[in-house]
Amino acid sequence: MFITFEGIDGSGKSTQAKALAATLEAQGIEVVLTREPGGSPGAEEIRRMVLEGEPDKWSPQTELLLFTAARRDHLEKTIVPALAAGKVVICDRFADSTRVYQGITRGDLRKQVDTLHQLMIGREPDLTFIVDMDPSVGLARAKGRQGTEERFEDFGVSMQEQMREGFLSLAAEFPDRCIVIDGNRDIDTVAAEIAGIAKANLG
Ligand code: C5P
Repeated sequence: MFITFEGIDGSGKSTQAKALAATLEAQGIEVVLTREPGGSPGAEEIRRMVLEGEPDKWSPQTELLLFTAARRDHLEKTIVPALAAGKVVICDRFADSTRVYQGITRGDLRKQVDTLHQLMIGREPDLTFIVDMDPSVGLARAKGRQGTEERFEDFGVSMQEQMREGFLSLAAEFPDRCIVIDGNRDIDTVAAEIAGIAKANLG
């Protein structure tokens, strides 16, 4: 089973992806916890190319091509082999992030995102948790993590709100696999809800 976590910067999705991986592993389930951009040696190289350095190093179009290349490598090298071995793959961000970031906020490229996805990726997760979070709280948390080599653009609350709306509209677009989780509660409460839903889906 292929599970993804999505949400705005500072939504807590990475913490929740880790918590779900730990819960399932404790029950003897084999899990591969991975992330995007990145998740395979080649895709991690592309991550560094895109996220380190100046935010405007690449145009939104080139960035879309690079993220798609990274996703293709990640699929080939990490995700598909793990799923074929019967493992549960938990991925922090996947194509929905590209639909929101390159599709809406970094470029108005949703048509190109969809065409490239169909051509080169062609795979959706079985289950996607969209961790919903108050945009101003998410922004404050993400700002608190600043100082790494990777870029963090302070788009401001209105852009965070636009990204939040983008993720919520993807939940409506893909209702069969997307579940919106209220991330404004304490970590353990959110984790327990997610674990319950994941286990029900694992059967
Ligand atoms: O989830 P994580 O914090 O590792 O993501 C790193 C950054 O990559 C995000 O802050 C986001 O700005 C950027 N990103 C992006 N387009 C994507 C995925 C991530 O611009 N498709």
